[in-house]
Amino acid sequence: MQGRPITSILIANRGEIALRVMASARAMGIRTIAIYAEDDAHLPFVREADEAHSLGDGALKETYLNIEKIVTIAKAAKADAIHPGYGFLSENAAFAEAVVKAGIVFIGPSPEVISLMGDKVRAREAAKKIGVPLVPGYDGPEQDAGKLEKEAQRIGFPLLIKAAAGGGGKGMRIVESIEGFGEACRSAQSEAQAAFGDGRVFLEKYLLRPRHIEVQVFSDSHGNHVHLFERECSIQRRHQKIVEETPSPGVKDKAKLLETAVTIARGISYRGAGTVEFIADESGAFYFLEMNTRLQVEHPVTEMVTGVDLVRWQIIEAGGGKVPLTQGEIRQNGHAIEVRLYAEDPDQGFLPTGGTIRRVGEPAGFGVRFENGYEDGCAVATRYDPMLAKLAAHGATREEAAERLVEALGKTFFSGVKTNRSYLQRILRSKAFLAGDTTTDFVGRHAAQVARREPSDEEMALALAAVLGGKDSWVPGSSHARSPGMTETPWVKLAGFRVA
Ligand code: ADP
Ligand code: ADP
Ligand code: MG
Repeated sequence: MQGRPITSILIANRGEIALRVMASARAMGIRTIAIYAEDDAHLPFVREADEAHSLGDGALKETYLNIEKIVTIAKAAKADAIHPGYGFLSENAAFAEAVVKAGIVFIGPSPEVISLMGDKVRAREAAKKIGVPLVPGYDGPEQDAGKLEKEAQRIGFPLLIKAAAGGGGKGMRIVESIEGFGEACRSAQSEAQAAFGDGRVFLEKYLLRPRHIEVQVFSDSHGNHVHLFERECSIQRRHQKIVEETPSPGVKDKAKLLETAVTIARGISYRGAGTVEFIADESGAFYFLEMNTRLQVEHPVTEMVTGVDLVRWQIIEAGGGKVPLTQGEIRQNGHAIEVRLYAEDPDQGFLPTGGTIRRVGEPAGFGVRFENGYEDGCAVATRYDPMLAKLAAHGATREEAAERLVEALGKTFFSGVKTNRSYLQRILRSKAFLAGDTTTDFVGRHAAQVARREPSDEEMALALAAVLGGKDSWVPGSSHARSPGMTETPWVKLAGFRVA
């Protein structure tokens, strides 16, 4: 169905990513169609769309994961195309196939390519054939305990058990020694079976202190394949990214990395936007991790340094167009950093919080980009991903981008819901981050540096003076009354503060 102009798009997603996709579609004069579960009926993305259709109530498989329902709505609404966003059905080959069969354009690669890259074992095989280095491990078909244990002994410890069908940091187990292996393997297999309907696992040597470096690629149906440079996303919790930036402060052989990603895209005849993820060891050697066949949460940092609207490119490509720029025309300008704002508590093991947002504070400023799915009075349902918004800043240098992002975070709030906002500020202000010492164990290794610090007496006095003096211009976390490391608002502490 590729190859005809697109005049309407149904967005099979919710929250901030639905709004993000609509913004580009709107600018192109395209009619936008939202679908929503009833508990999302009050969210801005429903109102912002040109039209919106209810998916009804119930579990995710009845709503955002219901392929049949979504395709039926798309047909009835006469959608030319469907954009899947990220998460949900974005990497579901059966969905892409159902969409194409219904005569609707799927904004993404072919179902065959989605299915190839969605299976990490098959993806490893494809990468190996193309000559791309892999993390040493075992990815054979045999899944019985005896065989896996023997392979584990051969690979050595620590090692990582991964689900072949895994994603979003789910279905992984780090194993330190052979004693714990059998049990970890069994629980990984049953977790994978429950979460992905596929219990197959594979083993990888667990790299110590690596960096997660990925490459944004873009391809069209005319055989053009380009990259839009790299992103480093090493700062993670639960194997899921929370801070992302470009350029990478730690990439060694950048030209080779970028070229390898393009070789993979070409090797599998990729189409559209994709991300090739690598893991780099301390020597700088890099290995293929996986390929995500969709738009990524961290795509804004790439857009900020290249000036390219990736959603616009996706729509152009899905309509049969060519990649709008040549490789030589795509430049990396300055530095951009993104943080993911989550409804979660970093002091309680990043446990999702939820609740109702009383008021949203929206940042603004030079080089700042805020993409948010919520507004005043919105409930944050725990059945969905706890990411509330993404915030990114661009600067001529890394330092400038980090400073702008800290300042913007100070102005951002979701009152009524506990978020990771001040935790993100502490990361961005830490010596380790500013020195580019960003490896995937950052959160654990630098826990002390980014730990919450009680405000000093001086800071408390300053905050109190601001209150008593009626200086309502005093904004918690802004550059007033701020010292390095002190980012949590002293307001919350005031109730218990005794004036001597
Ligand atoms: P990205 O890969 O775009 O950097 P994540 O890996 O965090 O971001 O995934 C983006 C979103 O998609 C998150 O909401 C995550 O929970 C969800 N997600 C990713 N892969 C899967 C999967 N296989 N199954 C379910 N949800 C997934
Ligand atoms: P997902 O599909 O869940 O995104 P990935 O394979 O991309 O799975 O891995 C997610 C994260 O887990 C990586 O960014 C990295 O931090 C960590 N990781 C994955 N494989 C390894 C490995 N072999 N050694 C060390 N860390 C790893
Ligand atoms: Mg990944």
